[in-house]
This record gives sequence, structure tokens and C-alpha cells, in this order.
Amino acid sequence: MAAKSKSRVRATNKLVAQLGERKVRRDEKSKYPASFDSSKLSFSYDALVVARSEVDVAATLKLANAFQVPVTTRGAGTSLTGSGSPIKGGWVLDVSRMSRIAIHKGKSMAVVQPGAVVQDIQDKAAAEGLFYPPDPSSLKHCTIGGNIACNAGGMRCAKYGVTRDFVLALEGYLPTGERVSWGGEYKKFATGYNVRDLWIGSEGTLGVVTKAVLRLLPKPARTWTILVAFEDDLQALQAVQDLLLAGMNPSILEFLDRNSVYCAEEIAGVKLFKGLSLKPLLLVEFDGHPNALRDDKKQAIDWAKRLGLAYREAKTEAETEVLWSARRKCSGAMFALGDAKINEDIVVPLESQAKFARFLKRLQKKWKLPMPTFGHAADGNFHVNIMYHREVAEERQRAKGAVDDLMQKVVALGGTISGEHGIGLAKTPFMKYARNDAEMAAMRAIKKALDPNGILNPGKLFDEYEVWSKTPEKVVLPWDKKPILK
Ligand SMILES: Cc1cc2nc3c(=O)[nH]c(=O)nc-3n(C[C@H](O)[C@H](O)[C@H](O)COP(=O)(O)OP(=O)(O)OC[C@H]3O[C@@H](n4cnc5c(N)ncnc54)[C@H](O)[C@@H]3O)c2cc1C
Repeated sequence: MAAKSKSRVRATNKLVAQLGERKVRRDEKSKYPASFDSSKLSFSYDALVVARSEVDVAATLKLANAFQVPVTTRGAGTSLTGSGSPIKGGWVLDVSRMSRIAIHKGKSMAVVQPGAVVQDIQDKAAAEGLFYPPDPSSLKHCTIGGNIACNAGGMRCAKYGVTRDFVLALEGYLPTGERVSWGGEYKKFATGYNVRDLWIGSEGTLGVVTKAVLRLLPKPARTWTILVAFEDDLQALQAVQDLLLAGMNPSILEFLDRNSVYCAEEIAGVKLFKGLSLKPLLLVEFDGHPNALRDDKKQAIDWAKRLGLAYREAKTEAETEVLWSARRKCSGAMFALGDAKINEDIVVPLESQAKFARFLKRLQKKWKLPMPTFGHAADGNFHVNIMYHREVAEERQRAKGAVDDLMQKVVALGGTISGEHGIGLAKTPFMKYARNDAEMAAMRAIKKALDPNGILNPGKLFDEYEVWSKTPEKVVLPWDKKPILK
């Protein structure tokens, strides 16, 4: 142990000699904010490396590999799973300062550095009449590097897909510090293994992204939003299937269960339907050319009428905002039901959604905890929010039992334990439900081949970690302050 820490001190001294004190920070004040991500699970580590260029990234990885120092790459630190927390110490490699964005209008591509904030990419693309659809609710803060590492999703995945669907090429560094590029500024390649796609969603365990080429689309001319109310959650989820089977292709199809609507209407005070409150909802948006949108609108209203549903369409921007405010406000309002939230992001196949709705009812009854649930219904990707009081040990135990039941059930229903947040630390205990021994062995073999010394983001995905054993930091993060769409 002593030899290991001596060697790490020597490695850090060498890194300081190469990059300087300004880039390699060892003081606690600089290090603390990067000692945790949005999971607020903090771990001590040796140095924060503030990378300004590829040279800094290469130097860090080469030394880390030579001295076997753990490295955790970091974007904005919005990950909810602990994937960005340096659980094994070592160095945190902050690439958020590398944030250049270039839009190539003629090619409909964006060439970006990893620290580019997703909202900035969207804004720059929009200024050229182009569109980058992936829209995680954290988009004002999170970086494209983090989105690629977690294969982030969002509301518009219903029509457009996830981050993976917009990444044409990646450049960066292997854990050994060697430079690699998977693809280029072209739209297709069939040149050996597609390691680009292996990196996407690997949670920073297989390489460090320093540049990405993103596919852009023409900006949709218009959007139209309709809110539809249901008698119960089951009916709402059955209507999702009906809508999709009818061939409609909404850009957004968000479900809010009765509890989530309760949070928005009763706690946050959003007024949605006169004389019709506390009903489960579907919030549906279509986008496109006005002519196409006219057809979508007709089809959607016919669908609502055919099913005998109450609906409210937004005729002005102000009305659209009122409808969306229900979705925006329900998440923050949930804290009136408990001071702690486990925000899961499970996926169930479309055909199992009705069974899932019934299961959720039973789960809440069994564990006697409120579990407001909303999410991306077209993808079957639901945020089950298990609310409890952190200081009440017995409630914590119930919340823990509920998550375990939930994870086992979604797998039994043919789904999976994460649709967009990833595994990080928080979901490692449930990997055994989602992946069999052969699958885990294959993943370990890939990790070993690309990272023989196991230096890159160690302790994530594979080793079971008990998040309940650690008290989260009591800090307010920038994205905790304003109501945000999650
Ligand atoms: C309020 C809120 C709302 C959210 N909403 C959504 C949502 O709608 N959809 C969704 O998918 N997620 C959502 N998230 C989760 C989170 O924002 C995403 O996982 C996001 O992709 C993380 O980006 P980041 O820049 O913060 O990455 P970080 O948290 O810094 O890092 C996340 C992971 O990426 C790795 N990483 C970061 N940069 C690189 C790089 N350059 N190369 C290799 N690996 C790298 C890290 O090592 C880590 O494993 C939300 C989070 C919050 C707090």
C-alpha cells in the first residue's frame, strides 16, 4: 500500500513537472468540486488535471498508465450514477475547458471538443438553420463528452434517437495514451471493428474522447403540442401503443403518472385542465413542415376523440409553456414527498408497459413509499422516482428493497435497468440481473484489451458498490437550483 502511494506521489510530481501547477491542482479547494458528480458521492483523490489541449490528455494518460494511477475523466459532473466520482482516487482529468464548436453547414456536421456544452451545440447549429436533436434535461450544463460516454437520451429520442445516433466519428486517446480516431468527417465507414460505437456508452472506461463529429439535421419549421388526460396510468400506457400502432411519429411522447401530476398540480400549483385534475397525462409534441404538421394534428386529435379522451392543445407559445410547465415542475415538487429521491431510468418493451404499470402499483403498496413515475413513453424509458426520508433508517431500507424489486422486475419483463443514465456505481449491484456471466466476461475482456492496467475510470460497471454505505455530500449543485425537466 505504502509503495503504491509513493509511486502515485512520484507520478503526480512528474505530471506537475510536465504540465505545471496551474493545470495540475493538488489543493483541496480545487479538488473538492470534482470529487463527486450529481450522485454527490465524494471520494478523495490526488490531483485535478485541468486539460486545455490534447497534449495535456496524452501526457496525463501516458504517465498514469506507466505508474498505474487511476484516472477519472470528467465533463460537467452531472452524471446521476457516480460514474464521474473518483472512487479509486488518483487523478480526475477535467476536459470541460476543451469546448470548441465548429458547424459545417454544407456537410450538416458539427465538429466539437469534449467539453462543449450540449445547449451551446444546439444553439450554434440552430443559428445555421440546423438541428442537433438529443436533449437531455441537463443540456444547459452537461458536455458532449459526458453525453457520448453515457449515450445520453432525452425527450426527443421518441422520434430522433439517442446520442449514439448522431455521432459520426470520435477521436481521442486509449488508456495507454496512444492517439486513435474512429471515423472522420464522413457519413459511413466499414473499416474494421466499429470501436466508435464501443466507446459510446462505455462511461469513460475505454478511452478519452477529445473530438467528435456529430450529424446535424435540418431544423424543423414548427412544433405543435397536445396534452391528453386519462382515467388511470394503465389506460395512458395502452394509448401509447395505440398511437404508435396508428403510425404516428411524435417528436416527444412523455408520460406523467397520477403521482407526478399530483406533484405538478397540487404542490407546484400548475393549472392544466379546468375541472379535470389529477389525471395521468401524455404530453405529445409533433414537429416538422407546416403541411406535415397539419396531418399530424388531425391524426392526433382523431386518436384522442376515438379513444374518448380529454385533451388540450396549445394554440399559442404561452399555452405551450403552460403544458410543458407540468413536466418541468413535477420533478422538483416531488421533494415534498420525501427529502431523498432515487431516480431510476429503467426500460420496458412497449408490449410490457401495461404489466409494468400494474407492477408499479403493487410496488408502492408493498414498500409504502411514493414513487411518482414519468418518462419517455415511446421508448419505454421511465423515471421511477422512489421518494423517502434519508434520516429515517427504516425508510432507507424500504427504498433499497424497492429498487431491488424494480430492477428484477424490469428484466423479467424483457427490459433493462438503465436507458440513459448508465451504470456508474449506483447500478452495479443490479448488473447481475441484466447481464449473464458470459456477457460480463466478454465486457471484462474488452476492458482488459484496451486498458491492460485498468487505469481508466476503475471501480465502475463491474465491481458491486453499495451506494447506501456512503452519505452523499450536502451540497447544492447548479442544476439543483432551478426547476429543470427531470
Ligand atoms: C438535472 C439532471 C437532468 C438529467 N437529465 C438527463 C436526461 O434527460 N437524459 C440523460 O441521458 N441524462 C440525464 N442526466 C444525466 C447526465 O446529465 C448525463 O449522464 C450526461 O451525459 C453527463 O454529462 P457530463 O458532461 O455531466 O458528464 P460527467 O458527469 O462529467 O461524466 C459522466 C461520465 O462520462 C465520462 N466522460 C466525461 N467526459 C468524457 C470524455 N471526454 N471522454 C470519455 N469519457 C468521458 C466520465 O468519466 C463519466 O463516466 C441528467 C442529470 C441531471 C443532474
